[in-house]
Amino acid sequence: NYVPLSPISFLERAAEVYRERKSIIYGSITYTWQETHNRCVKLASTLNHIGVSRGDVVATLAPNVPAMLELQFAVPMAGAIICNLNTRLDPNMLSTLLKHSEAKILFVDYQLLQVTEEAIDILKKTQSKHPVVVIISDPGSLCEYESLVDSGETEFSIIRPNNECDPISLNYTSGTTSRPKGVVFSHRGAYLSAISSVFMRGMGEMPTYLWSLPIFHCNGWCFSWGMAIVGVTNVCIRRCDPKEIFDNILHHNVTHMDGVPTVLNMIANSLSTYQKQLPHKVDILTGGAPPPPTIILKMEELGFHVRHVYGLTETGGPSTKNLWKPEWDRLPREEQMEIKARQGVPSFVTEEVDVKDPVTMESVKCDRKSLGEVMFRGNTIMSGYFKDLKATEEAFAGGWFRSGDLAVKHPDGYIEVKDRCKDIIISGGENICTIEVETVIYSHPGVLEVAVVARPDDHWGQTPCAFVKLKDGVDVDGQEIIEYCRDRMPHYMAPRTVVFDDLPRNSTGKVQKFVLREKANLMGSLCYQKV
Ligand code: ATP
Repeated sequence: NYVPLSPISFLERAAEVYRERKSIIYGSITYTWQETHNRCVKLASTLNHIGVSRGDVVATLAPNVPAMLELQFAVPMAGAIICNLNTRLDPNMLSTLLKHSEAKILFVDYQLLQVTEEAIDILKKTQSKHPVVVIISDPGSLCEYESLVDSGETEFSIIRPNNECDPISLNYTSGTTSRPKGVVFSHRGAYLSAISSVFMRGMGEMPTYLWSLPIFHCNGWCFSWGMAIVGVTNVCIRRCDPKEIFDNILHHNVTHMDGVPTVLNMIANSLSTYQKQLPHKVDILTGGAPPPPTIILKMEELGFHVRHVYGLTETGGPSTKNLWKPEWDRLPREEQMEIKARQGVPSFVTEEVDVKDPVTMESVKCDRKSLGEVMFRGNTIMSGYFKDLKATEEAFAGGWFRSGDLAVKHPDGYIEVKDRCKDIIISGGENICTIEVETVIYSHPGVLEVAVVARPDDHWGQTPCAFVKLKDGVDVDGQEIIEYCRDRMPHYMAPRTVVFDDLPRNSTGKVQKFVLREKANLMGSLCYQKV
């Protein structure tokens, strides 16, 4: 009577255990866990009737509306693979990913119809197959999505995986360093990652979670499966703006939420302008990029409890988390935030994480100094890159998944991510981790955002170049930033060039350092520049 592990079972249990408890709140619309279960079964039955079968890909392109949460369950219940696409993709990239994924159906939010039509036109012009488009409107209004739910049968016998290793999802990486790669997850990987995501957040039974992180991004899809485990009430919002977030926290007594560092920065800066203090503690999980310690400090002063995690799309999301030690309570606040923002221990049994020399594959010394590559092994690692055997083979070494991130290991086993391998600067033979330089520059009171990259140098090989965005109304010159750094770090680490400019970001909000590197490559001998 062996039943393969699948997150589908979380929803079936939630319908039994949490029954009338609210599963979703979206404006004036609410659903209970039983209703969510029924709607998902009905939608799965319709998908089955319209020809979606085992192994087909069904894509989504929508903000955090209830349909997005339902589809994470309904698509696998129809035996298909859920593929959540980034809502900020341009028509070209959208058409590329639709073609690559071979999605049979695309569920698209009514506000994203134009980009979808343009993408489908591109596919038609190149005589490529294109998916059937189903429009999602807000619940309550007439839309194709609702009619698909309504026409389904609650008696539908859901299509379970034959094997735990069957694929459940296909999600594309952020495209920060190269073209987005299609990451395939198995039912078992998804099941374990979902449990781990609940554990990472320290969630008890029946909390209230605000969807401030896009479901399509940062393994949000995986978190949505986890929400059924503890009967979370999911508060959905269309737009992630500070006022909306703050109002929803107050109105629904939100206990947990997530945010990439850019979102934290936005919340910290806008809420502190209004001097708004939260009436109760809200747990916020952050990852996806290195969070500046100064922002964590601000968030904690506003009443958030920040949990920092590190992970990749390929590792099913958070794979290390900052497990707080009581002795750190005695450290100065700034030092505490630095530890919180940088160090973590592997998530419980589902992962094996190590820092290894990529050539010898030996573990590096636990001395806070020896740099190595973070590598993962275990059940929550992706099955592979979709239709890309070569990239899959390159991503693994001796059974370990290579993250492409450099880190050191502390004597107590804590892992501290220092930089992406591609971003590290080598100046006069010394390694400079750009995250360390950025952390110092972030602590300058006039700085809103910063990214440090290598600039070619005839003498040193490379030197650090900082791209800085100042806060509104602040007037600071580049030399001041350079001096500020020289007072706080060895001189070779301090930027030699400071450029004041906006930071280019990809569609998930991550800084595209390769764009900045190109700019730095083209620079003449200027010392600092105001743009
Ligand atoms: P692509 O692989 O397409 O270039 P990406 O690397 O940004 O994009 P993601 O899977 O979205 O793809 O992000 C994972 C990467 O984000 C990690 O490899 C790491 O470089 C960075 N990252 C994630 N969390 C953290 C963190 N807490 N601290 C530092 N870096 C982080």
